[in-house]
Amino acid sequence: MGSLKDDWKETGKDLGGAFKQLGKSIVKSGATVVNKANDWAEKDDAKEAAKKIVCPNCGAEMTDPEALFCLKCGEKLNKAAE
Ligand SMILES: [Zn+2]
Repeated sequence: MGSLKDDWKETGKDLGGAFKQLGKSIVKSGATVVNKANDWAEKDDAKEAAKKIVCPNCGAEMTDPEALFCLKCGEKLNKAAE
C-alpha cells in the first residue's frame, strides 16, 4: 500500500506542476485581457473627450468644454440650456 501512496504523491506533484503552469498561463492571458480592456476603456474616454464643442459660426473646436464663447471668433457657443 506504501507504493500506491507514493504513486499518489508523484501524481499529486505532477498535477501540482501542471496546475502551476496552467495558473501561470491563465494569469498571463488574464493580464493580456485586462490590458486590452484598459486600452478599450481609454479609447472610449478619448472618444468622449473628442466630443468637443464646435463653434457654430467658424467651426473652431473649443479645447475648453466649459467655454461660453468661441476663442476664435467670439461667437456665443450653443451649450445645452441650463
Ligand atoms: Zn468661432
